[in-house]
Amino acid sequence: MSNSASELYYQHSGRIGFAPLLVLFLGMPIIAALAAAYSYLVVWCPVIGYVNILFLGGFILASSFVLTTLARIGKSRSPIAMALLGLACGLVAVYSAWLFFIKALFEDQVSLVDLVTNPVALGNAVYFINQQGWWQPSGLAQWAISAVESGAILIGLTMAGWSSTDREVFCEDCGDWCEPFETMRLTPTEALLATNSNQLKPEELLTLEECTESDFPRFDAEVLQCNACKQLQAIRFDRVSQVMDDGQLKEKREDIPGVLIQRGDFG
Ligand SMILES: [Zn+2]
Repeated sequence: MSNSASELYYQHSGRIGFAPLLVLFLGMPIIAALAAAYSYLVVWCPVIGYVNILFLGGFILASSFVLTTLARIGKSRSPIAMALLGLACGLVAVYSAWLFFIKALFEDQVSLVDLVTNPVALGNAVYFINQQGWWQPSGLAQWAISAVESGAILIGLTMAGWSSTDREVFCEDCGDWCEPFETMRLTPTEALLATNSNQLKPEELLTLEECTESDFPRFDAEVLQCNACKQLQAIRFDRVSQVMDDGQLKEKREDIPGVLIQRGDFG
């Protein structure tokens, strides 16, 4: 097995696949529908405040899930292309959220068709709502809230696109993703536990003693394999620990950067 640094770590080929088509014709309509659900929830929910942050978070997570799923199905191996598609989805999300928000707020007084075909009227409505407020804050405060909301959506979806397939490994020979094959559970040393995840060297973790699923803290080494040729395997690592959350012990996982690859005959 060759052990030069470039052979050790997996790197995406940069190919875009057919992800842009999927995102354009499937992802964007779904995200627009999610934006409608989000806007109607915000207008119709009798409580305003902390719950809106949950709605916004849910909207961004659901939209990111759509983007990530389509990136994988569409075989995108280009983080940059996916980040740009994520940004485009973010713009669709912000636009659609405003569109349906205005419709939900003014109901029969406005028509969706008018708002879509008349961007000036849409812009005026956005200006009016921010200037006058719609529940309590108005003017500068409402503009700031709207800006933070839009920023969170745009940044959230751009980052979701950028990282959509960053833990996945593609077999360029067979044209498909590697699938999970087995997971090894490893006992960390004190020194490794004290090391920041970004500074860990994944190849060194493979020499650690194995442990079981009930041991904490530990490192998980998940082996992926190309099921078509069985000539390519990859290993990605997680740091797994237990934390107290609301009086309950919960498992916490953190990705360790760097996915190892090995070529050989694993059949
Ligand atoms: Zn293969």
